[in-house]
Amino acid sequence: MRRPSRITVILLTTGIPPLAFAVALFVLGGIPQDVAPYLTIALVLVPATVFLPLCAFVWFRYTSRTWRRRFQKAIPTSCIICGEPLPKSPLRRVRQVQGPHYQNTHSDFWRWEEKWRKVFLALALTLAAVTFYELAITNYVLFILGISLSVILALAWSEFEKRKLRSFRNQWRLIARTGMNS
Ligand SMILES: [Zn+2]
Repeated sequence: MRRPSRITVILLTTGIPPLAFAVALFVLGGIPQDVAPYLTIALVLVPATVFLPLCAFVWFRYTSRTWRRRFQKAIPTSCIICGEPLPKSPLRRVRQVQGPHYQNTHSDFWRWEEKWRKVFLALALTLAAVTFYELAITNYVLFILGISLSVILALAWSEFEKRKLRSFRNQWRLIARTGMNS
């Protein structure tokens, strides 16, 4: 059996006392008044101040790992236009590693992508700022509107990109075919 990690041990040692305390409270139907505050502090408050932040940290680490893995899987291993195999790359360096192929072979696609990526980023940031502002002034209707607009924007962008990509691919095929004939 694998030895439990230090985090698991801390989670167990800080998570069990409050649980045991709750069970004891339930079974005994109450604890003597004179020791109740000390027991509550020692068995619930102190462990909880370690347990809860650590739980949040573990959850955050787990979700960020899964997302990174998901994004990593989404990185294409071949060119999305001509299908030529491209070098594998970690998520952070994908533009550095795979970018040159697009820059050299599909320069019009590269320029198009660079331009629209900036536009989309600016739009998304503005929308996020407005949405956050609505939340801060507790205007929930506009907040929900902001969220829905973000979803619509993301869907519209993905559809727009898909279409444009298809046209770039067709263009490439046409060029390749005429290149072969001549
Ligand atoms: Zn290519």
